Amino acid sequence: MPVLLVTGASRGIGASIARRAAAAGYDVALTYADDREAALRVAADVEAAGRRALVIRADVAREDHVVAAFEEVDRTFGTLDAIAINAGITGRFGRVEDLDAETLQRVLAVNVVGAFLCAREAVRRMSTQRGGSGGAIVVVSSRAAGLGSPGEYVHYAASKAAVDTMTLGLAKEVSREGIRVNAVAPGLIDTEIHARGGRPERVAQIAPTVPLGRIGTPDEVADAVLWLLSDAASYITGAIVPVSGGR
Ligand code: NAP
Repeated sequence: MPVLLVTGASRGIGASIARRAAAAGYDVALTYADDREAALRVAADVEAAGRRALVIRADVAREDHVVAAFEEVDRTFGTLDAIAINAGITGRFGRVEDLDAETLQRVLAVNVVGAFLCAREAVRRMSTQRGGSGGAIVVVSSRAAGLGSPGEYVHYAASKAAVDTMTLGLAKEVSREGIRVNAVAPGLIDTEIHARGGRPERVAQIAPTVPLGRIGTPDEVADAVLWLLSDAASYITGAIVPVSGGR
């Protein structure tokens, strides 16, 4: 069975990716940062679908955690075919003039350093130049990278622009090594990320401005991720696919 690693899969988009992946026939390794109980519930759903699940605590901003997480996948499954680099945070909402360095450094550490560390470990295992069998990487970016998110979180938008560029460059770097690298750019999706950034009312405020007239669901993002990971997207690499209702 193919093996998928999903980072930040205890809730929201990552949890949907894990569940959809199990339904599509993947064994799933799923990571979380703090909420073990939530991650275990997602793992139970994966197992209920007849697939194997591995739950790993890993702060993706920490190199030692990321390396240990991949080694646990090696020990448990012996292979890694696909990864969804999903874990991400917005940090506190606000204008750039009110931004504190701690928020900026944490958002860049989780969203950018974390994505690079996970991509590095995946390539080390998947690259045919390193004895791997190839694979697929999907990064969960954001439409914020293109919109800039003024007045909300320019720092977060900038972190997602960085992972977009990582996607473009890495896709070309490993294109002859059996690895495809793509990203999805979700728009406004119904998860806890907005409330955790301090703006629970954000979704209701912005939803009417979305061209399709509504907020998206985590499953709608997960379906795009699973498609990009699959052979149905075999000629697609370096793409950043908006999943944003036209926003
Ligand atoms: P969410 O509901 O807040 O879930 C975030 C997940 O990431 C949780 O599983 C959390 O684990 C994990 N996580 C947080 N910090 C972590 C860290 N340092 N190391 C490892 N895992 C960590 O967020 P979401 O909305 O599903 O977002 C998932 C991704 O989609 C993010 O990259 C986000 O930027 C992107 N995105 C979301 C939206 C949206 O509107 N929701 C739009 C565009 C892009 P714990 O619970 O265990 O801490």
